[in-house]
Amino acid sequence: MDWSRVYPYGVQAVLVSAPLIFAALFWITAPYGRHSNGRSRAWGPSLNPKVAWVLMESPSVFWFAYVFWSGPYRNAAASLVLFALWQLHYCQRTFVYPALLKPNATPMPLNVALLGFFYNCINASLNAAAIAHIRAYDASWFVDPRFAIGVAVFFLGMGINLHSDHILRNLRKPGETGYKIPHGGMYKYLSAPNYFGEILEWCGWAIATWSGAGLSFAVFTVANLAPRAIKHHQWYQQKFPNYPRNRKALIPGLL
Ligand code: NDP
Repeated sequence: MDWSRVYPYGVQAVLVSAPLIFAALFWITAPYGRHSNGRSRAWGPSLNPKVAWVLMESPSVFWFAYVFWSGPYRNAAASLVLFALWQLHYCQRTFVYPALLKPNATPMPLNVALLGFFYNCINASLNAAAIAHIRAYDASWFVDPRFAIGVAVFFLGMGINLHSDHILRNLRKPGETGYKIPHGGMYKYLSAPNYFGEILEWCGWAIATWSGAGLSFAVFTVANLAPRAIKHHQWYQQKFPNYPRNRKALIPGLL
């Protein structure tokens, strides 16, 4: 496939769909985790969450690698480093995150996993095309401030995301179900610091690649996760009367 021809249309489609998804997610809450609430049946049979995460995220590892390695600029030095950054995140998300999930994590409806799979196919295609088909990121990109700033933001976001997910995973004792108030790390300030970290990571990627695909991914991540962070926050406030009052949903001190 000639990715350089498809690429601009794909980026535009994601950028146009992001505000629609953002608005829709205030009405329809993706029914997984604490927001399942018996609505899961309309979204198909329930999958083991470990299986669902591997299924949903695997295009971001395998399809991304395929598109990247078919690109004319795959051997450019900074393209290879960007490839490694992407794979670092997605190998963690696809294999390590599901392996670490506790056996009592909530099942995920099949159709949520399929939607995630579909989006990841498109997103992986565009971002791999950006760094291996559209532009050669040669060694000169290493000294561009956008690369240094983007990589720093990416790792800051990744650190916050991993630490926040680690705190959540360890809230339940073996055999326990249900939810508790998380404390520690960025939970001092936010109800959804894992989403804040995720958004920072992809903003970092957008800066480090300075690409339309990177921008579209960062925008789409905000569109997807901001409504969910707000719903998590409201859910915590309703469920726990002693929920810390100074905590924000997604952005420290602001939202
Ligand atoms: P959640 O914060 O909803 O849940 C993460 C895990 O922690 C689940 O196993 C959940 O259990 C458990 N958990 C959450 N809160 C509590 C609590 N208060 N008490 C006890 N256990 C809790 O995150 P998501 O599942 O939505 O996302 C997981 C990861 O994937 C995150 O790092 C997120 O950033 C990333 N992600 C990225 C997206 C993107 O657009 N790039 C989209 C969606 C997710 P249970 O399953 O039972 O609720």
